Amino acid sequence: MIKPKIAVHKFSSCDGCQLAFLNMGESLLALADRVEIMHFAEAGPVDENASVDIAFVEGSIATQHDLERIQKIRANSAYLISMGACATAGGIQALRNMADTQQWIAGVYAQPEYIDTLDNSEPISDHVKVDLALWGCPINSQQIITTVRDLLFRVTPKPERDKLCLECKRQQQVCVMVSRGESCMGAVTQNGCGALCPSVGRGCYACFGPAEDANCPALANRLEGLGLVDREIAQKFLFINSAAEPFQSTGNKRKQS
Ligand code: SF4
Ligand code: SF4
Repeated sequence: MIKPKIAVHKFSSCDGCQLAFLNMGESLLALADRVEIMHFAEAGPVDENASVDIAFVEGSIATQHDLERIQKIRANSAYLISMGACATAGGIQALRNMADTQQWIAGVYAQPEYIDTLDNSEPISDHVKVDLALWGCPINSQQIITTVRDLLFRVTPKPERDKLCLECKRQQQVCVMVSRGESCMGAVTQNGCGALCPSVGRGCYACFGPAEDANCPALANRLEGLGLVDREIAQKFLFINSAAEPFQSTGNKRKQS
């Protein structure tokens, strides 16, 4: 039997999404039985230029070298999946897009001439066609299992875009916003974590990016009603997924107020 070939590539990132891949446990062993892993440096196999059926890409585009690599990876991959907040929306490192990168480099490094970086941290989809985006920081293992299973059965994956509040209520968690007046981003964030933060009594940080039809201005008004000032509201939206719309526009509007 000819097995589908897969690759897992890394760009600017913390490796957390690759670890989610490795944390699949027994499912990873089952997956290794059904596919041929051509490139996954963190797990062992290295063949970055291999032609594959499915390529998972972690991390954002942040250097000239990244730009050249992602073009080659796209050319070698039949189906390309951006994996996690960095690859899908620029990640936490996209916070630098709001500042003067060269000024920061000069302030931080004793010899800035050795730093090779683009001015912005950019999502993979800014440079090549992405067939599927998996959000999250990190993604969870179940997203990978579901996606690979769908593709092996030739079904188009359809990731969940529902709001986290729906999952939170399905689990009958006590709402931290209603019961304790704490800020929570669940009303505009897509589910994927299984309401992890509300389940331990804290508000959502929006790791999984904007939900479908997210009404960010309405949540910003609600946060204001809880006593947050504009700067604090802006920080809620301009965080892990700061470059993703509609978080970016709502955050910027509050930042400039
Ligand atoms: S999305 Fe989050 S966990 Fe994944 S690589 Fe980026 S920073 Fe790490
Ligand atoms: S705790 Fe957050 S996610 Fe849960 S219902 Fe309240 S606002 Fe929504």
